[in-house]
Amino acid sequence: MPERKALVAGNWKMNGRRTDGVALARAIAERAKAPHACDLLVCPPATLLRPVGEALAGSGVALGGQDCHAAASGAFTGCISAEMLHDAGCSHVIVGHSERRQTCGETDADVQAKTLAAWRAGLVAIICVGETRSEREAGIAIAVVSNQLAGSVPDGAAADNLVIAYEPVWAIGTGLTPTIADITEMHAAIHSRIPAGTRILYGGSVNPKNAAEILALPEVDGALVGGASLKAEDFWAIAEAAG
Ligand code: PEP
Repeated sequence: MPERKALVAGNWKMNGRRTDGVALARAIAERAKAPHACDLLVCPPATLLRPVGEALAGSGVALGGQDCHAAASGAFTGCISAEMLHDAGCSHVIVGHSERRQTCGETDADVQAKTLAAWRAGLVAIICVGETRSEREAGIAIAVVSNQLAGSVPDGAAADNLVIAYEPVWAIGTGLTPTIADITEMHAAIHSRIPAGTRILYGGSVNPKNAAEILALPEVDGALVGGASLKAEDFWAIAEAAG
């Protein structure tokens, strides 16, 4: 199996204004001067892409969007295309985050269309998948995630244009995490369904205390980090754990 370098990605969600966003990005860029074994990515809100991109310039920390529209341009008020993200300096875009699947009603077909848009613009798509608590309790978590993968990942997926983020919905922002055995089982199941070498991140309440145990798993190729990515020292501690 090809070696997979870990990726630690911060999803800032709808947090940050220019002053604190730039300060956070500068603090991350400063820490990233130290040797580290993983790739790093920051996904700020769209309003901060430009200043955060400037603060990260030369640091090696990549910039990503949190969502994109499937179309390249047009009458879609309030939306942002993958081409616009690329133009703003992004190399990656998160698609299908459970918060968008739940609050914006995004379907697997929508996620697939957004992934194709990301590829059209030259971006790596980070497709989020994950089960709800009731699906986990019903013993259908792997079936649910397999269906999401089948519906969301387009033909043409490869290790250099796709990252999967396994994010159990019930673990996001709750402080709860699956057992190590459950994470291992799910990541192994996902690996068997996507092209070899494709990275699978774990996401859901990753923090400096639990990161080392999760990131030590050979099936886990990094983390998608929400809340803990808003503090440079916590984000960096997770990055170090990935080493
Ligand atoms: C996320 O929303 O992608 C996420 C992983 O959030 P948190 O780390 O806060 O659970």
